Amino acid sequence: MAPHPEAAALLARSHRLGADPRNTNYAGGNTSAKGTATDPVTGGDVELMWVKGSGGDLGTLTEPGLAVLRLDRLRALRDVYPGVEREDEMVAAFDYCLHGKGGAAPSIDTAMHGLVDAPHVDHLHPDSGIALACAADGEKLTAECFGDTVVWVPWRRPGFQLGLDIAAVKEANPQAIGCVLGGHGITAWGATAEACERNSLHIIRTAEEFLARHGKAEPFGPVLEGYEPLPETERRRRAAALAPHIRALASQDRARIGHFTDSGVVLDFLARAGHPRLAALGTSCPDHFLRTKVRPLVLDLPPTAPLDEAIARLTELHAEYREEYAAYYRRHALPDSPAMRGADPAIVLVPGVGMFSFGKDKQTARVAGEFYVNAVQVMRGAEAVSAYAPIEESEKFRIEYWALEEAKLRRMPKPRPLATRVALVTGAGSGIGRAIAHRLVAEGACVVVADLNAESAAAVTEELGGADRAVAVTVDVTSEEQIAEAFRAALLAFGGVDLVVNNAGISLSRPLLETSARDWDLQHNVMARGSFLVSREAARVMIAQGLGGDIVYIASKNAVFAGPNNIAYAATKAGQAHQVRLLAVELGEHGIRVNGVNPDGVVRGSGIFAGGWGAQRAAVYGVEEEKLGEFYAQRTLLKREVLPEHVAAAVFALTGGDLTHTTGLHVPVDAGVAAAFLR
Ligand code: NAD
Repeated sequence: MAPHPEAAALLARSHRLGADPRNTNYAGGNTSAKGTATDPVTGGDVELMWVKGSGGDLGTLTEPGLAVLRLDRLRALRDVYPGVEREDEMVAAFDYCLHGKGGAAPSIDTAMHGLVDAPHVDHLHPDSGIALACAADGEKLTAECFGDTVVWVPWRRPGFQLGLDIAAVKEANPQAIGCVLGGHGITAWGATAEACERNSLHIIRTAEEFLARHGKAEPFGPVLEGYEPLPETERRRRAAALAPHIRALASQDRARIGHFTDSGVVLDFLARAGHPRLAALGTSCPDHFLRTKVRPLVLDLPPTAPLDEAIARLTELHAEYREEYAAYYRRHALPDSPAMRGADPAIVLVPGVGMFSFGKDKQTARVAGEFYVNAVQVMRGAEAVSAYAPIEESEKFRIEYWALEEAKLRRMPKPRPLATRVALVTGAGSGIGRAIAHRLVAEGACVVVADLNAESAAAVTEELGGADRAVAVTVDVTSEEQIAEAFRAALLAFGGVDLVVNNAGISLSRPLLETSARDWDLQHNVMARGSFLVSREAARVMIAQGLGGDIVYIASKNAVFAGPNNIAYAATKAGQAHQVRLLAVELGEHGIRVNGVNPDGVVRGSGIFAGGWGAQRAAVYGVEEEKLGEFYAQRTLLKREVLPEHVAAAVFALTGGDLTHTTGLHVPVDAGVAAAFLR
């Protein structure tokens, strides 16, 4: 069924507003429309409100993302409202106002939309609007900027009372088109969808122009000598060198994924004398600090300080950060407050280098970083015309540890087994590696698709759903420098590395007398030497992170089974297999487990088989090449063909959390080949 015309217009308006980040932060704000529909029960008219539900983003809002409520019932809640002390109870009452199945869960801002007497309402979080909302003299500046067309509403935690406040402001100011909500954002209204959108954009753009026209040139103060950004290559190397140490600090309570940005906004902020004072004040808009935490951790050393010194100082500052966070919790917690949720920072700022942000997955980490950039713009605007004055710490606590916020967190689905783990899979552009990358992403991991073939790595990354799940890196595992660069790319993409799969491989099937020294070297360079180099780099990162880790080798049945015409391939596979045992011994003390998988006869999807090896093996065994998979199946104990997914399942079994006490093991995935039994 087509959406009601008012709902359709609302979706279109939301998309336009949400498409421009100057209008609202990601997933921030909500919009609504009121209209008349036919009540299927009575056949008569019913007044409804469509409002963006809890969660989701304006830019991509769809009809199921709207909550649909009956306006008469929603407004009747005023008569039973028990007062601000018990305003949270009204949220449960929204469920009794739903029309039909009601669509998405109504958000806390539903009251604001319903109680304001206007057919269309937008509540947004534009940086320019929040800058006025967070200026020390925001009320005066709002009047200067807008005259009496936009009214100041003092800070109040979102909820039923804020809805009543705004409704009263609108009633008392019939000339007004909207309001600035102290410490928070803006709300605009209109008689038509067009008028509402026009009013929202007018408030946002007028605030932007006001800040530009009246603002001072250097709101963050002069450049701090020595804190200027490092040149790009040096900056990224420094960021990658710091990343595993910073992730270790940010993951003290629980492992988290990282995101790094060195955007101009961040680097300029960190290069200025005012940044330590402003960063300490923390963020203000509730949307911002729920993701960024009340304040960031800021390294107080220039980017030229020796790396060891920077790491030691970050460690000290982190210990202080945790103590201060616990003290903040103790200062404000009431007997019925939810337990402290962890004291690690979500945002770590490194002058001259950039910003690391952390979250339970890549999207959350990235959005936390984006919100801190929003907060920097807010500080810039507020300082340009006044002084940045975020809401009180006690109010931030009331939101961070709000029972409704806690309930929302409890409703979140259970994390998948590999959530918060970053995997790097070599040779993931094809065959077995591709299947492994798919499985790891399906189990919640972030995956670095590392392959010699840039095109296939990019294609697999695309299949996996893009940058919040996977990134592609081009790497030749025979090159130390390229491996180091691939790990740097992984560190900058996801903050760390926890799981490395040595899968890249090539294969030549030749009798001894036809195997050249070059063949031998090539096979050994890619496999035994390549995986040694990758494991060494992996261990460097994992040891620095201190979060343990997994290294998995895709060896082969041929590592144990002596088949014909296979000297170079099988010998290097045996070399890889023994690396599993050697490294399991050496890395155990760091909590790094090293295991192997021995596949056999994975014909389908394998580039190795398609690229000549299949034809050679078929000739050796005297079967047609297309029948090779079947031939391999028939010589197994289970008479089953082995597919790339079966190898991927073994990798997951080894790393998914059940085999925490297993290292140095090889799992055969060959449908049963007695000659390759391990003993
Ligand atoms: P595949 O050819 O489909 O995939 C191998 C990938 O490795 C390719 O994308 C290739 O570009 C990449 N690669 C090759 N050289 C590289 C290098 N120098 N640096 C980085 N990447 C490189 O092969 P597959 O069958 O999926 O094999 C994957 C692994 O499994 C190999 O190590 C192979 O020896 C092993 N294995 C395969 C089978 C099988 O039956 N297919 C059996 C046992 C073991």
